[in-house]
Amino acid sequence: MHPSHHRYDVLVVGGGIIGLVTAWRAAQRGLSTAVADPAPGGGAAHVAAGMLAAVTELQYGEQTLLELNLASARRYPSFAAELEDATGLGLGYRPCGTLAVALDADDRADLRELHTFQTSLGLRSEWLSGRDCRRLEPMLAPGVRGGLRVDGDHQVDPRRLAAALLRAAELAGVVLHRSSAARIETVRDRATGAVLDDGTMITAGRTVLATGSRSGGMPGVPEHALPPVRPVKGQILRLRVPPGHAPFLSRTVRAVVRGGHVYLVPRENGELVVGATSEELGWDTTVTAGGVYELLRDAHELVPGLTELPLVETLAGLRPGSPDNAPLLGRSALPGLLLATGHHRNGVLLTPVTGDIMAELLTTGSVPESARPFSPTRFTLQEQPA
Ligand SMILES: Cc1cc2nc3c(=O)[nH]c(=O)nc-3n(C[C@H](O)[C@H](O)[C@H](O)COP(=O)(O)OP(=O)(O)OC[C@H]3O[C@@H](n4cnc5c(N)ncnc54)[C@H](O)[C@@H]3O)c2cc1C
Repeated sequence: MHPSHHRYDVLVVGGGIIGLVTAWRAAQRGLSTAVADPAPGGGAAHVAAGMLAAVTELQYGEQTLLELNLASARRYPSFAAELEDATGLGLGYRPCGTLAVALDADDRADLRELHTFQTSLGLRSEWLSGRDCRRLEPMLAPGVRGGLRVDGDHQVDPRRLAAALLRAAELAGVVLHRSSAARIETVRDRATGAVLDDGTMITAGRTVLATGSRSGGMPGVPEHALPPVRPVKGQILRLRVPPGHAPFLSRTVRAVVRGGHVYLVPRENGELVVGATSEELGWDTTVTAGGVYELLRDAHELVPGLTELPLVETLAGLRPGSPDNAPLLGRSALPGLLLATGHHRNGVLLTPVTGDIMAELLTTGSVPESARPFSPTRFTLQEQPA
């Protein structure tokens, strides 16, 4: 065999958090596994806020996704403990809860409706007066009109999650090829691996496409098997609460201001993440004056004191958006090619269940019942054997 030709049971193309968790779980189950990515452990997780917000991110019409989100939220404590044990690296997992607040009468009415919807689904969410919100979070603006206390929506630090997954994958024996896949290889209409930009040829029994927002355009994959995934730009800011300063917020605080979502995620290390815009601008990742202005303006309305804090980072990243905002997990229309993509605004939250589902598929050939609604074939004509 040519020295730059490698053979594995599984090749995962894309080493963001979704590709890495898939590779880690596959290797744990005894499959020889490789990841191809020029910069594994980077991707959208480098930008993301890390809210594990199954309940406060709930939108009308997304009840099916809610079940998966809740299942992953329940998996987080044991998943985080396992990953920390395996690697010795902390994830910054913080079971701190979330407070969603309203700043005017219209927002209050919307939030009341959302509360009714949440409780009709049996979700735990408590309505609080404006005064009670400020009692919980004294830095909130005096004008806060009411809010929802959701004690089950937590947070994790996505950069630390990505670093730990990378380490765990390597410790479990995953081979990292630090190069892009130039194209997926097919033989007689079956995916057989990939050719990388550096000339390496990788042959694999199963190939998993996990290139996030790039998944919709992978060369070599026939048109009908490509996932309908698009980039959704998000700009985000990081402020820093100086050491010795009283904690700014004790939990994630979010609101809808002028129709846009704004959230503040306080980390234990003093970082305060302010996010995020949602823009349909293709591959553009420019941080704009307008984006930063809007985020700071809305965050300032929520927590006026934050304008004193140092602004330490501004970034933009790309969420892998799908037509129904839910992930694509399972077989593609091209035999031998599996998909783990389209996690949109919930990729950090969905990391634990994605690992479980993909490992099950790779080892048994079928996905758990709970994952059936997320089959990529909901957007294509027919499913093929793996
Ligand atoms: C501003 C913002 C805020 C967010 N906040 C949250 C949040 O609070 N909670 C939450 O749950 N989610 C959040 N998300 C979403 C979450 O970050 C994503 O859903 C998740 O990171 C997607 O992971 P992924 O591994 O599928 O894709 P990515 O992170 O995009 O990783 C894809 C990887 O594929 C690699 N790649 C691309 N092309 C190739 C190729 N040809 N060959 C090899 N490798 C390739 C890239 O280098 C990259 O490493 C947020 C996202 C953004 C942008």
